[in-house]
Amino acid sequence: MIFGLPPNLSLYVLFFWAISGGMLGALFHHHKGHSAVSGFIGGALLGPVLVWAMLLVSGAPKCPECAEIVKSEARKCKHCGAALQTAE
Ligand SMILES: [Zn+2]
Repeated sequence: MIFGLPPNLSLYVLFFWAISGGMLGALFHHHKGHSAVSGFIGGALLGPVLVWAMLLVSGAPKCPECAEIVKSEARKCKHCGAALQTAE
């Protein structure tokens, strides 16, 4: 078939959605010390966009004192001035 899209394109899209979401979820869960399999299933259900959003949110360091999101390079919270531990 040269012209047009395959009739079951939506299946391909769904498949790609589940696989890419699952891989991101597995990476994310594994990184957090959880099972990669459960991360894969969760990611496949949520989809890559939501997993990316979760990654972005959870990857941003939070101030332990005021729970505001701070820069990872920051040593001091810009909101409350508390000293922050850097992840290195
Ligand atoms: Zn703070």
